[in-house]
Amino acid sequence: MILEGERREPVLSFSLDVKREMSRIEVAAACCKRSELAGILRAGLTLRKVPGGFRLLLSTENAPLSRHVFVLAKEIYGFDPGVSAKKTRRFRNHSVYQLDLTGLIGDGQDLLSDIGLSINTDSGEIRYMNYKVRKRCCKRAFLRGGFLAAGSISDPDKSYHLEVTFRTRLQAEEYVQYLKDFGLQPRIIQRKGYYLAYLKEGQEIVDFLNITGAHKALMNLENIRIMKEMRNQVNRIVNCETANLSKTVDASLRQTESIRFIQEHAGLDSLPDALREIAALRLENPDVSLAELGRMLEPPLSKSGVNHRLRKIERIAESMGFNPGS
Ligand SMILES: [Zn+2]
Repeated sequence: MILEGERREPVLSFSLDVKREMSRIEVAAACCKRSELAGILRAGLTLRKVPGGFRLLLSTENAPLSRHVFVLAKEIYGFDPGVSAKKTRRFRNHSVYQLDLTGLIGDGQDLLSDIGLSINTDSGEIRYMNYKVRKRCCKRAFLRGGFLAAGSISDPDKSYHLEVTFRTRLQAEEYVQYLKDFGLQPRIIQRKGYYLAYLKEGQEIVDFLNITGAHKALMNLENIRIMKEMRNQVNRIVNCETANLSKTVDASLRQTESIRFIQEHAGLDSLPDALREIAALRLENPDVSLAELGRMLEPPLSKSGVNHRLRKIERIAESMGFNPGS
């Protein structure tokens, strides 16, 4: 069941692995290509003010994604985004890839209106209209696109959490609606001026990876879930055994203290033969179980027989004034 994961060293994050896999998924249908590109651009485009105007950018640390967007924009709209890469100090010399779609602002409004966007160059804002996706195949592609541009998954070793960040409530609600169409139950929260659509259950995250076609990540996640479940089971067993062991130790301690009390106050000879015999054995063998004690007797005695006699001894000690709590 445990597969040899194709783990790159060092593993940067589960999130990045998922995105790399998703960026390499080749969709064949033209309808899905459009939806995927729409999902990516609606979630990922930013408008930046620069001297003399604006730049419309898509930034990503994920090289396959920048290639993917480039190819889709060119293939579907014949548009050629400029691509540049910059080193960043975050994550030790990682590169950030920047696609420049500024050319769309003037005469490229076709693509933008096609994906439900318009640019207000006076206010420097992107306006989002609703984007309708009808076919199920396209919804999968759209959800994948949104995650690629603005999503993250926590490391499943630690917790189960998947989120996609949007600038407007309209976008978040639209994304959530498409997730619900696949039976998922996402929620939305507002954080630092952004709207987050998120999933919290391990099973829902598995379903999400399935819907969006990230099957390798899905297998990895399932393996981690199985390992986690096994670890929890082992821990439960160990805890249970520890609890039993400490109960045994407590009982043995109470018994030997009772016997010593009788020994000091009346002498073991004051006990009936059957009790004196087991008392002496217990003092000599404080660590053995009741069953083992029973086997040392001649003739042997059952565990419950031993228990019965030791309880009697404890009651005698108590009647003589022994207080096990003190
Ligand atoms: Zn489609």
